[in-house]
Amino acid sequence: MTKKSLMWSNGSIVETTNNVSSLNFVMHYGSPAAWEGIRAYAQSERQNKLLGREATSIFKLKDHIDRLFHSAKIVNLESPFTKTEVEEACIALVQANGAGDLYLRPILYSNQDAESVRATDEKPSLDIYAFPVKDLHARKNKGISVSISSYSRGYPQFQMQAKTPGNYVLSQAVKSEMAASGMDDVLFLDNLGYVTEATVGNIFIVKGKVITTPPDNGSILPGITRDVIMRIHRCEGVSNGSIEKPLTRADVYTADEMFMTGTYAEVVPIVRVDGRLIGNGEPGPVTKGLAAQYEERVRNTYVK
Ligand code: PMP
Repeated sequence: MTKKSLMWSNGSIVETTNNVSSLNFVMHYGSPAAWEGIRAYAQSERQNKLLGREATSIFKLKDHIDRLFHSAKIVNLESPFTKTEVEEACIALVQANGAGDLYLRPILYSNQDAESVRATDEKPSLDIYAFPVKDLHARKNKGISVSISSYSRGYPQFQMQAKTPGNYVLSQAVKSEMAASGMDDVLFLDNLGYVTEATVGNIFIVKGKVITTPPDNGSILPGITRDVIMRIHRCEGVSNGSIEKPLTRADVYTADEMFMTGTYAEVVPIVRVDGRLIGNGEPGPVTKGLAAQYEERVRNTYVK
């Protein structure tokens, strides 16, 4: 919890509390609900000097709120608040918590009861939680080891495009696999055998100076960090930017470098897959370069 442990709930900033009954429909069926994970970053010294104050800035807020509304549309849930109101709510919550890094978790959920004990015309709720961010430097510096999961992400893929609670059942199910094999994360295959993504992050492989990631109409959540990384790579003018194409196991095993992207984790090198070293088993130069540029962006969002 944050210092003051404040949340935004249906229009007001209040002490963080748990509002949901165990009879809530979403608790039983995993939907209809939609959520987001967003980060607010304390800005760099250079940025603060230019602004004349200590600023905290929410990275890609509009993109996250757009995705929240896309997810809601997919699960057929109408938000009682507009996109602008939700964006303003996130900003107000960051201001209420004071300067510093934060992780924001907006969740829009149905208030229907599983057995319709309460009136079914009750409006959905929107809560936004704010959490401190854990230090992930160790993972980023050393990289992580992953294995390919025995669970697969199937087609049709539309559900994976929604950030809805039920979609995370597999990600939770593989935790026991991860614990048993001592892995830091797993990669899911789709039902054609292509490698899709990690539990809560997209993947990229690097071959030479080309970076490749599975297409966003496959069984993945189209990540906002993934998009930023592709844009950074394009701006760099290294090769022709990034390529989106299905990845086979062999593509992964023979990559020079590999990394995972996500709002919380940012850019995390993957240095071992199914016991095989990726490249020389250490975070590579392309991955490190992209991670550094990502860090530069999130800490300097007003003035590039
Ligand atoms: N895939 C899944 C399943 C995720 O939960 C996440 C985290 N939101 C991602 C990919 C990465 O998306 P983003 O970069 O937008 O956080």
